[in-house]
Amino acid sequence: MQTVSTIFINGQPVEGGREPFPVNNPATGEAFAQCPAATPEQVDEAVAAAQAAFKTFQHTPDAELKAMLHRIADLIDANADELARVVTLEQGKPLALAQMEVGAAAGWTRYTADLDVPVKVIEDSETRLAELHHKPLGVVGSITPWNWPLMIAVWHIMPAIRTGNTVVSKPSSLTPFSTLKLVELINQVVPAGVINIVTGEGGIGRAMTSHQDINKIVFTGSTPTGQDIMRKSADNLKRLTLELGGNDASIVLPGTDLDKIAQGIFQTAFLNMGQTCAALKRLYVHEDQYDEMCAKLVELASEQVVGSGLEEGVTFGPVQNKAQLDLVAELVDDARAQGGRVLCGGEAQQGNGFFYPPTIVAGVSNGVRLVDEEQFGPALPIIAYSTVEEALAMANDNVNGLGGSVWGDDIEQARAVATRLESGTAWINNHAEVLPHCPFGGSKMSGVGIEFGEEGLLEYTQPQLLSISRG
Ligand code: NAD
Repeated sequence: MQTVSTIFINGQPVEGGREPFPVNNPATGEAFAQCPAATPEQVDEAVAAAQAAFKTFQHTPDAELKAMLHRIADLIDANADELARVVTLEQGKPLALAQMEVGAAAGWTRYTADLDVPVKVIEDSETRLAELHHKPLGVVGSITPWNWPLMIAVWHIMPAIRTGNTVVSKPSSLTPFSTLKLVELINQVVPAGVINIVTGEGGIGRAMTSHQDINKIVFTGSTPTGQDIMRKSADNLKRLTLELGGNDASIVLPGTDLDKIAQGIFQTAFLNMGQTCAALKRLYVHEDQYDEMCAKLVELASEQVVGSGLEEGVTFGPVQNKAQLDLVAELVDDARAQGGRVLCGGEAQQGNGFFYPPTIVAGVSNGVRLVDEEQFGPALPIIAYSTVEEALAMANDNVNGLGGSVWGDDIEQARAVATRLESGTAWINNHAEVLPHCPFGGSKMSGVGIEFGEEGLLEYTQPQLLSISRG
């Protein structure tokens, strides 16, 4: 495996100005490579380069922007093997899932390439022609987390470039290498300064969020960090897209055929070992079907092969980092102490690496931390309810509002319940399905703004009304 050993500023590979920092392989718990570390001064240089590039890049014709993104997608495909291995090494997920992440990164780039920025005619009358246009914002700062490192970087960077902005990217210090490689590839296509990357921990992120020459921050990560970013952005009124934490509830309607849905529920709860913003994180099941649902999910959990993502046959990798592993263990231990029944899993594996097997916890309800807080890991609480009204009240009794789902045989009944969920997305008979053409964003404390589709693209633009008088 090759890892990129420089950051990129103004199209050039540059040595980091500080001591490199180690990056762990979650399957061994040990460092597998050293990452270059940027200084706050290098953040200034990256922003200055992006600002200079914006002067001309903002005028790039649409057809050229589209062609650039298609060439980037081709480069992602051409480097897919290396990118997938890097994702598995730094993030931990099984290689097949990392390959899917790389495939989705290329697909998302192509979809974004083909989107158009619309011009809306507001009025076309004898007195005036009024048109709503959209112009790029300037320098976009992208700050990304460690769960889907390559894909989320693509979600941020591609719509920014497609709309003629320039970018400074900061990946999570836990998973920097796939984004460094992506930025190296993008630099083969776009003019110097259009994409820059700085690496480091939260301090480098803060140097970006308080920077007066960054016009927008697109951030995916935890809610407390999102709140800090919002505060820091006030000085120059940065535009914000904040995709934050979730604690998605899911309701199985009474009398549902459980054989049809158990697999889907398991997959979407434990997607990426549960480290997915819009994973199914709390499951509400009617008391008459409670034991049967629990048994089916325990059986699916027992079929998982836990191990290093690079090993053949492994379906379930490690948690990405020790702090997250400790949080999952703490929440499960607390649920146990509150009378919860751990039906499978429930203990970190001894030995090297951050392994925690798929864990199902029964006999808990709202008010227990594992239910109320985002676990962001492989532990699913299952809660019994007696009426659908009660289930809805418990589902909505949470500060988060990213996604939610309802599972049932009667779609109209499911629709009536799903539309009452307080969430940015409401799925029926599915969960965690994120698509490039479907706008996605959080309600309540799960975020501000929207990604994907035309609505997501326009978040990288400033509307300008052009009004031509015909009086
Ligand atoms: P995090 O907030 O700790 O870190 C995310 C990024 O922000 C990292 O690059 C980090 O270095 C940087 N950062 C940390 N403090 C900062 C500060 N004060 N200012 C600027 N940057 C700062 O999040 P994480 O632990 O990497 O990710 C897990 C969280 O992300 C979970 O809560 C999860 O739900 C959420 N998430 C949300 C979505 C979504 O689309 N809503 C998607 C993926 C993950």
